[in-house]
Amino acid sequence: MASVGPAMESSSPAASERNSSFDLALITDVGTKREGNEDSCGHLLENDSVVLFLVADGVGGYEGGEIASAMVVETTLAAFRSSSPDLGTSKRLHRALQQANIEVHNRALAVPELRRMATTATAIAVNVNEGMLYGAHCGDCRLYRVRDRKIEQLTRDHTVVGERVRMGLMTPDRARTHPDRSALSRCLGQDLIPSIDRITTPIQQDDRLIVCSDGLWSVLTDAEIEQLTRDADAETACRRLIDTANQRGTPDNLTVGVFVQMAESSNCAVRRGWRARIAGIFGRGS
Ligand code: MN
Repeated sequence: MASVGPAMESSSPAASERNSSFDLALITDVGTKREGNEDSCGHLLENDSVVLFLVADGVGGYEGGEIASAMVVETTLAAFRSSSPDLGTSKRLHRALQQANIEVHNRALAVPELRRMATTATAIAVNVNEGMLYGAHCGDCRLYRVRDRKIEQLTRDHTVVGERVRMGLMTPDRARTHPDRSALSRCLGQDLIPSIDRITTPIQQDDRLIVCSDGLWSVLTDAEIEQLTRDADAETACRRLIDTANQRGTPDNLTVGVFVQMAESSNCAVRRGWRARIAGIFGRGS
């Protein structure tokens, strides 16, 4: 495991939110090789139990990546806030991300210089008291869940090499170092109706969630991400991840959010029975 020296400590400010039920922090950092930061992140505490946070990575190579990622963060938070709780958290989150996609798409149509702008986004809403996690995901940011020191990636990478790995045409090791590894198969902003994965799964006391852009996961293994976030509060965990990725010389901007569930939750999936569990397995919202 890499050590974190004081000389390399990240100076980017953390956004954090903490109460007796959960601990959340988010940091975005320009990294060591780029002029600007095209990643964005944000969060919203709706009430003592519902918290929303997301990471977006503007597509490089075209103008407007940083505009697209910032618009998606801002619009998703605003659309979620103004939607009716009666819809249910999963549907509210999905619709909020769809609304954000439309905003970026329309701006790209209206402004010639921004016509190819696009972004990835991974948004998570946690109902802390119910112990349920809802995700909406498009692109190559990743969401991990750590439980009992086991780390599991809950999102699929929407990249060309990721699709090939899933089809059995490429090994994960080859994909990690493949020259086209960052070519996306899906993103937000380019199509009017994007294809957004939905995640619904229970979370338990002491579970950690880690959401990050590819600038971070491309230089850290899953096992390292687990080790660096172990026994740390959310903000310390974020700083360790950012500092270690920067020490490795990631060529990209990097963003990470860490959420720690501290409340004992009335585990919903048990109460809701097999339908909820099957919905979780297939990534459909309730
Ligand atoms: Mn990136």
